[in-house]
Amino acid sequence: MATTPDTSVAARAKYEPVIGLEVHVQLLTASKIFCSCSTRFGDAPNTNVCPVCLGLPGALPVLNRRVVDFAVLAAMALSCEIRETSIFARKNYFYPDLPKGYQISQYDKPLAEHGWIEIKTPEGKKKIGITRVHLEEDAGKSLHEGFADAAEKTAIDLNRTGVPLIEIVSEPDIASPDEAYDYLTKLKEIILYTGVSDCNMEEGSLRCDANISVRPRGQKEFGTKTEVKNVNSFRFIREALEYEIERHIGVLESGGKISQETRLYNANEGKTYGMRSKEQAHDYRYFPEPDLLPLVVDEKWQAEIRGVLPELPEARRQRMVVDYGITEKDAAVLTDSKSLADQFESAAKAAKNPKRVANLVQSELVGRLKAKGLEIEQSPVSMKGVAMSADLVESGAISGKMLKDLYDLSFERGKDFGVVYEQEGRPEQSRDTSSLEKIIDDLIAANPKQVEQYRAGKKTVIGFFVGQVMKASKGQANPQLVNELLGKKLEG
Ligand SMILES: [Zn+2]
Repeated sequence: MATTPDTSVAARAKYEPVIGLEVHVQLLTASKIFCSCSTRFGDAPNTNVCPVCLGLPGALPVLNRRVVDFAVLAAMALSCEIRETSIFARKNYFYPDLPKGYQISQYDKPLAEHGWIEIKTPEGKKKIGITRVHLEEDAGKSLHEGFADAAEKTAIDLNRTGVPLIEIVSEPDIASPDEAYDYLTKLKEIILYTGVSDCNMEEGSLRCDANISVRPRGQKEFGTKTEVKNVNSFRFIREALEYEIERHIGVLESGGKISQETRLYNANEGKTYGMRSKEQAHDYRYFPEPDLLPLVVDEKWQAEIRGVLPELPEARRQRMVVDYGITEKDAAVLTDSKSLADQFESAAKAAKNPKRVANLVQSELVGRLKAKGLEIEQSPVSMKGVAMSADLVESGAISGKMLKDLYDLSFERGKDFGVVYEQEGRPEQSRDTSSLEKIIDDLIAANPKQVEQYRAGKKTVIGFFVGQVMKASKGQANPQLVNELLGKKLEG
């Protein structure tokens, strides 16, 4: 948990935070954005390089078409308008990990603009605007540890230079650390559904910088902002923002001034530290990249890409609620990842009762997974197994109690439901009517008042008897059979 400077509740209520997020997402192409070098993560340093990505004089960039396909797909999924003609620009700055002395990015004419992501807040749904989505190349990586003279020297790995990125810039619409967390979660979910990135934060495929300022409630002008950089989990971003909000308010309340700067979050301490003052706010001296033509994504190309845009998580949840008669909560669990949702839908379509499949996921699967600390993708029981179990209960072949036992065995043995069902010799609930008839006869004898009510026309009383029989059989009786037998015996 973040430790926060002590700011009184009253002071906190006087200010409102204004947060904007810049998210870099690495696109999953096999080769880099302007050359044919591999983008593979974890290769030996400086092995995936060539004159283009090393920035050697005279080498010319050639745009990777697949990068554009992926970037446009992501922008469409984020509800952006695609700009037919966008322009690459040089962003000039000097840094050891950038041998060219400039980064090829996009500036005043980005690939896409005016998108949004919908998040849930305690006050209801809220749209967070996306200012722009633009293409750019990644820089190299400075290495400060892991080699012999690391104490005196910094090493450089240029495998990452020229790896394709999109930068997704939000509007300053985010009003709390929780909203920021929700926005990032939704953004990642959407990008994962499109398949253009693995969004792996440990490997740097998704990176987030946060801009934060506070202003007195009701004031239009923004306060001075700070930027928190290189935070490597959504939880830490939320903590860093909480810390910064408290810090800003504390400084302002004591009569001080916030200085515009970049800060780093130390997750162990739960504090941010000033890094360097921002290079005179965006004084990067951008100018159009003379080595690349304007990027034209015409209507035809856009239509092709739109054609492969998958159904996105929010729309899918809403459709599944309608199609399978399940709750929004069920739908949220089942759309946690695209592959899970795909599996569920194919299983549900094959099952006799899709709603029972969804119910079993909630009632039998989720709790057991939690207890074992497993993600749903790691479940020993597949969606096919869930569908099979649902059908067995539906047809009366097994009882609810037997189903639970089989799930327990599946988790014990780490085997799918179908395998355990076979291993156990395809158990069936008893259709031996003699023991059931004995139970029913005893119940009828013991409850003359209910029998009388039933015979007088109050047919719902049968529910009472069914409950008693199930209890007496310890949940093992086949409900269908119980109903049949009870009906006969009660009619007398
Ligand atoms: Zn290269």
